[in-house]
Amino acid sequence: MKNVELTKEMFEEQIKSYIKKEDSLALIEKAYNYAKEKHEGQFRKSGEPYFVHIQAVAYELAKLHVGPSTICAGLLHDVIEDCDVTGEEFISIYGMEIYMIVEAVTKIGNLKFADEKEYQAANHRKILMAMAKDIRVILVKLCDRLHNMRTLEFMRPEKQKRIAKETLEVYAPIAHRLGLAEIKNELEDLCFYYLDNEKYREIAKLVENKKSERDLQVNQMIDDISKLLTEHNLPYRIFGRSKHLYSINKKMVQKGKRFEEILDLLAIRIITQTELNCYEILGYIHATYRPIPGRLKDYIAVPKMNMYRSLHTTIVGNDGRIYEIQIRTEEMDQVAEKGVAAHWAYKEGNYDSHLEQKEIVKELDWLKAFKEDELDNASNYMDTVIGDVFNANVYCMTPKGRVIDLPVGSNPIDFAYRIHTEVGHTTVGAIVNGALVPLSTVLKTGDVVEIRTNKNSTPSEDWLKIVKTTGAKNKIRLYFQKKEQEEKETLVKTGEEMLKQDMIKRGVDVEEYFDKEKLEKLFNFFRTPTYLDFMYSIAKKSLSTSSVIEKLVKLGKKELDEDLLQQIVEKNKSKSKAAHETSKSGVTVKGITGMKINLAPCCAPIYGDEIIGYVTKGQGIKVHRADCPNILKEKSRLISVEWDEIKPEHKFEANIKIFSKDRAYLLTDLITCISQFKANMLSVNISVNQEDLTATASLTLSVNDVEHLNTIMANLRKVNSVISVERAVK
Ligand code: MN
Repeated sequence: MKNVELTKEMFEEQIKSYIKKEDSLALIEKAYNYAKEKHEGQFRKSGEPYFVHIQAVAYELAKLHVGPSTICAGLLHDVIEDCDVTGEEFISIYGMEIYMIVEAVTKIGNLKFADEKEYQAANHRKILMAMAKDIRVILVKLCDRLHNMRTLEFMRPEKQKRIAKETLEVYAPIAHRLGLAEIKNELEDLCFYYLDNEKYREIAKLVENKKSERDLQVNQMIDDISKLLTEHNLPYRIFGRSKHLYSINKKMVQKGKRFEEILDLLAIRIITQTELNCYEILGYIHATYRPIPGRLKDYIAVPKMNMYRSLHTTIVGNDGRIYEIQIRTEEMDQVAEKGVAAHWAYKEGNYDSHLEQKEIVKELDWLKAFKEDELDNASNYMDTVIGDVFNANVYCMTPKGRVIDLPVGSNPIDFAYRIHTEVGHTTVGAIVNGALVPLSTVLKTGDVVEIRTNKNSTPSEDWLKIVKTTGAKNKIRLYFQKKEQEEKETLVKTGEEMLKQDMIKRGVDVEEYFDKEKLEKLFNFFRTPTYLDFMYSIAKKSLSTSSVIEKLVKLGKKELDEDLLQQIVEKNKSKSKAAHETSKSGVTVKGITGMKINLAPCCAPIYGDEIIGYVTKGQGIKVHRADCPNILKEKSRLISVEWDEIKPEHKFEANIKIFSKDRAYLLTDLITCISQFKANMLSVNISVNQEDLTATASLTLSVNDVEHLNTIMANLRKVNSVISVERAVK
């Protein structure tokens, strides 16, 4: 693998073959001399002056016919990294455009995919494309990599393997995507050489051995076809073509074939003028030689996803051998070899034009057009290349070059939590690209982010409003939940102490009344579900010690026992709707005792509802909700009633009606919601109106009191597709 020595004359000749403007040529000349001077005294591992590499990269770019800015970027791609040239100096001489390309190339060079776990070729490719933003960056990077691969023999064997593997998995596919066939093929063969040297030599030998024989055959065929095309007055250029070794090996492995069995080893390419000429040539060839069925590919009508266009056919020659023929126009051939770059050049019809970002975007629009009337391939291409390049994620880096990918709109807090939860929790500031920025700063691809932490610092609740990633959100929430729980736990002691102190102050016997069992009787009344919450409320002063002590003393020891008894009796009674007795209706009538008091089943009042009594004939007092329509007529027999001061232990039956749009799992969702609030469902009846697809559910719930019911109803209203929830009256 010896390289021909590249001279300045060769480079200039290549440049001048397509760049004609004087100022462009002058700029390139300036960059050439500048780079040469800056790299003076530097040498590569091969022992050659460093500038040999620079010139080779720029030469490869020139072969792609890229614009002068890109050529300059190629010449200058290592001066910032290796020659201590500052950004300011660079920009003052070459301007922002070239600087941006060089900076992105440098950044990509510094990416680290250190550990195996983090390294995923597909990811690496994506990140590269996204970081490049401007396809010119990728072109420079590919030419840089190409020359580095050509000179890989001077590296240590492990490094050779690592770089070859990365090139094969990351850079060759990118070259392929962009249609840069020449570069792709060379990269693949170089990788093959280093990754499986034995196999490489074996195939190289097979190709070599067959070469003279094959050349003879191919030349004969070329003569025959030439005669045919000349007879028909068709313009053409014709030549034989050899497959690169890597692809021969790939075909052998993938299709399980021997070397001799690979059909397109004998390949001929015909270049002509117009699309029509292509089809004409195909017609004459098919009329003269027997085509092999199923081998005709019309990539002119249906281009490949990397814009490749050509006709392919396979025929049996006069000698009985099989030949693959490719037919294409000059332009198609350029696109096939130079991909993306060639396409622009042709489109602009002006080799002097820069490959501007604008043009790239315009180019992508052109691609979009072929997405619409085209197959999945094209849309995949769109998604992967364009999507990755211009929007998808943002890729930021730690100062050490570790890549962190984040959704668009993320800020340094998201970044910090992605590094580590502890880093997130203790973040105090962020330095992005060397400057201190607010934590709400939206990060961009390529940003180098350094997180400042302080081990005594804690998250702020405001972060919840600005973070983008759910990961960060959850970690912050979890932090505050944990903190609240811890706070509650420490405040329990404070609550207990406050209660005891007030008891002493009021002369209440602490020994007797500060009793967990007794206190528990009060939880329901004060709506604190646990001892922890109860004491926490006292400590937070949302519950006054005086009201607690009052209730506690009122309950008294004897009453508590009766209460307990009442509970046991209740539990033993059947759960069916036995008439509610005075004692268990929870209602008292001022000045009246010993009268039967029942809760009216029509409106089913529950503890806490506004209520009114109705004196029945011989059945005691029926208690209705104050707004029950059934009592409005009989005003003379109404009597004022009120709920017992201490809430009864038993549950109340409440009827509710839910009106909703019908959908799958509606009932399941309703039941889940109800059970979350620890209410039993005693009956359910759901009916669906098929005409407007609405559902009406009538439910009977067993609840503690009106507040409990209101909470449940409020939450039922939040269930997806529910329209209304109301208390029902029978
Ligand atoms: Mn380089």
